[in-house]
Amino acid sequence: MPNMLSVVHSGRCFCKAIRYRVTGLPILSAYCHCTLCQTFNAAAFICTIHFPASAFAWTHAEPHDEALDFFDVPTKPWKRRWRCKQCGVTVASYNSRSNKWSVWGGQLDRDAEGKIIGWDTIKPTAHIFYETRMIDVQDELGKWTGYEGQSERLSG
Ligand SMILES: [Zn+2]
Ligand SMILES: [Zn+2]
Repeated sequence: MPNMLSVVHSGRCFCKAIRYRVTGLPILSAYCHCTLCQTFNAAAFICTIHFPASAFAWTHAEPHDEALDFFDVPTKPWKRRWRCKQCGVTVASYNSRSNKWSVWGGQLDRDAEGKIIGWDTIKPTAHIFYETRMIDVQDELGKWTGYEGQSERLSG
């Protein structure tokens, strides 16, 4: 296990106008199969990674807000999703109830071969909200009805 203060990951929107940094190990890293993630991202499932608020920082040109837009989820008004004004891609969401940020694995910086840098320190440990999956995933990770360790673990 690396020293957690030395673990830093950076990510960005599609056009790179928005950039952020997360420091330390995540609180949670999972493949999320919930219907909100599916419809927001037009994807079967996504890789969501949660950090305490203190671990997250915008790193693109200041003033940061100038390049950012946001959307508050009507059914979860405590969740603000930040996106790039230029390319429209959402890069992070802030939960004011839990004081946590979520970022997505697919947007983290990659090496010359296209692999996410430092993936082993941040990769998912579970499949969550698995009951609404669009596809079965055959891997060694646990499958949960909700959050890992806080819901029912499904077999397989
Ligand atoms: Zn962008
Ligand atoms: Zn989800």
